[in-house]
Amino acid sequence: MFNLILFGPPGSGKGTQSQLIIDHYQFTHLSTGDMLRTEIERQTPLGMEAKKFMDRGALVPDEVVIAMISSRLDAQGNAKGFIFDGFPRTTAQAKALDKLLSLKATSIHLVLLMQVPEEELIKRLLLRGQTSGRTDDANEEVIRARIAEYYNKTSPVADYYAQQHKLQTVPAVGSIEEVFARIKQQIDKRFAELNLHSVSSHPRS
Ligand code: ADP
Repeated sequence: MFNLILFGPPGSGKGTQSQLIIDHYQFTHLSTGDMLRTEIERQTPLGMEAKKFMDRGALVPDEVVIAMISSRLDAQGNAKGFIFDGFPRTTAQAKALDKLLSLKATSIHLVLLMQVPEEELIKRLLLRGQTSGRTDDANEEVIRARIAEYYNKTSPVADYYAQQHKLQTVPAVGSIEEVFARIKQQIDKRFAELNLHSVSSHPRS
């Protein structure tokens, strides 16, 4: 089993790259943002509560997202590995994730920090807002609030993993393919260190 965290600010391309990683390595994708948007669409009580935070660019409370991830992990018995996208976003979430994984006799193997300059993030998110239908992408004030939440609460989580020697930085500017090539290189390097064979069933380049 191989567990990867894709880490980085809003607009750094985590969702796009997650899709490419899944196609290549057949990991199971766990995106708290996607899960929360599904809850909102279904108008569940959890979704209605989460929406209040998301609409103003704030983080949803830890206990809500931790409970959501916990039930998804339990529902996925025999995954080859997980890719965590948008989670953990606070140190409390990171510690909770470590506990959940240790109950499954596994752990985080690699954390990739996607690095993009702030002005580029805002440009990308505003552009995405024109087509994504995501209300939190349409308003520059909300985008700036999300980026501020990232720097205040989420980026310290990178130190948590750096101390465990699990953090690698990926420059996330350039084409989607260029960024994916850098990610693949980091994953394959970690596979080799862990003596894992590539779990890809569609070997590409
Ligand atoms: P982005 O990274 O582009 O902002 P996401 O889809 O990951 O997009 O998240 C959208 C919103 O969902 C966040 O701004 C936040 O309000 C909420 N959210 C998602 N994941 C978490 C999490 N792990 N903890 C708290 N809030 C979260």
